Amino acid sequence: QKMATAADSEYKIVLLGDPGVGKTTWFLQVRQGEFVDTENTAMSMGVDHLEHKVTVDEKEVKAYLHDTGGGERFRTLTANFYRHADAAILMYSVEDRYTFENLQEWVESAADVVDMDSFVFALVGNKSDLPLEVEHESIRARCDILGTQLSFFTSAKTGDNVMESFEKMVHYLHRTR
Ligand code: GDP
Ligand code: MG
Repeated sequence: QKMATAADSEYKIVLLGDPGVGKTTWFLQVRQGEFVDTENTAMSMGVDHLEHKVTVDEKEVKAYLHDTGGGERFRTLTANFYRHADAAILMYSVEDRYTFENLQEWVESAADVVDMDSFVFALVGNKSDLPLEVEHESIRARCDILGTQLSFFTSAKTGDNVMESFEKMVHYLHRTR
């Protein structure tokens, strides 16, 4: 949990997106640096949160990444999940247009709880090891609507660009606060 004394260098980032886009796998890549199969393990309901330290401008910054705990399946993410969050990773699967189009629903779900004026969204097209079925133009348009330039392609399966994109988000958050 966030401590008021160090609030200027701690950031809470929540994972959002449809079931199956790879949020828990992505979280586990950040935590363990390896692919973990969520299908046949207790991980399938999602895990809790992790702390990751990043050095930004020679200062140590703490990022807390929160997985959903599986509540997104029933649209039951609690206000507590969003509380004090600074940013959200809006995750879709690059090979499933529907999960991209559905991001608006997750934005609205966050908007009910967070202060949208200072909240940061980052788009993450996960499963980049599979064919891209979403047009670049649609992704650019979505970024414009959200007022963000943070848009990444990652593979939580191979690990490609997962840690890099996460750390870029943390850099951005720290440099704009
Ligand atoms: P969540 O419901 O969003 O938490 O999704 P999971 O992390 O449980 O992943 C759902 C399924 O997608 C699992 O079978 C994962 O192994 C698979 N998956 C996750 N990330 C990737 C990826 O980058 N590439 C591929 N090909 N499969 C992935
Ligand atoms: Mg999950």
